[in-house]
Amino acid sequence: VSRIGRCVVLAGGTGGAKLAAGMQDLLGDGLSVIANTADDIEVLGVDVSPDPDLITYWLAGEIDEERGWGIRGDSFTVFERLVALGAPDWFGLSDRDLATCLYRRTFVAEGGRRTDAQAQICRSLGVRAVVLPMCEQPVRTRVRTAEGWRGLQEFLIVDRARPPIEAIELEGIADAQPTAEVLAAISAAEAIVIGPSNPVISIGPILAVTALREALAATDAPVIAVSPYVAGEVVKGPTDAFMSAIGRPSTAAGVASLYKGLIEAMVCDEADPNSPPEGIETLSCPTLMEGRDGRRRLAERTLEFSRNLRSH
Ligand code: GDP
Repeated sequence: VSRIGRCVVLAGGTGGAKLAAGMQDLLGDGLSVIANTADDIEVLGVDVSPDPDLITYWLAGEIDEERGWGIRGDSFTVFERLVALGAPDWFGLSDRDLATCLYRRTFVAEGGRRTDAQAQICRSLGVRAVVLPMCEQPVRTRVRTAEGWRGLQEFLIVDRARPPIEAIELEGIADAQPTAEVLAAISAAEAIVIGPSNPVISIGPILAVTALREALAATDAPVIAVSPYVAGEVVKGPTDAFMSAIGRPSTAAGVASLYKGLIEAMVCDEADPNSPPEGIETLSCPTLMEGRDGRRRLAERTLEFSRNLRSH
């Protein structure tokens, strides 16, 4: 059986982005990452696209790994000055990150597509893989708490993701269409991997783009998910709160239930104490991606597993 040369990874922020970085080491420009855009936000006069940019910084090796977002060693000169001038201070952007978002704002204002802006940002940063926003149309995740409806970023940052979450909605999702690039990447892929990102707010919006989900359901390539639970626990972020908000157990099986009918297999952590998902194939292996080697190792295991799904 030949090696997999083309793969699509669905990703939100950290978990999916780390796996994508490992995949890029193996596949180079054979990797396409479909990125969630439902947490995009207009703030400080620029267009912020947190997940596509986080993925891009991971792939470029610029990410601030310790902080988990933004660019390593970057300054906040422009942001601090804006705040001193009276701009809102809750959404921090470092200087180079702000430049990315300013570039996107201008590119789109001049009639360009977000997909092309992201491609140019990737090219200029030396990224080999392809980073594809899931769609061009605006989609916005909103969360309802006791205080009313909030934009996702306000909920995550200002409210510090304090539950209970009473409802979640994806504003604009009915008009969202996958781009031609997204559909082409799916049809060319020899494997589709749903990354270990937040299943509700990172992967959920991508799968809610109807024609994108249909393309995934129709492809002959294996579709497999990587569990975001390491030893049964979330590594970072509010995955538990969002799983509980939609009434699913915060376990690998709970996540697999969200991808039912779409995935034929799942990679689960070898130290996960919960029962694995039923009715699909599972691979049990270490899934904590520590360092470049750790990311590459999980990417290798995942690709090998998906190749073997087709060889028997
Ligand atoms: P966010 O936007 O930064 O919250 O990022 P995501 O939606 O991509 O990621 C949140 C999920 O990534 C959490 O459920 C984490 O458990 C998961 N995650 C982060 N790092 C790792 C890792 O090294 N391995 C696995 N399996 N999951 C991870």
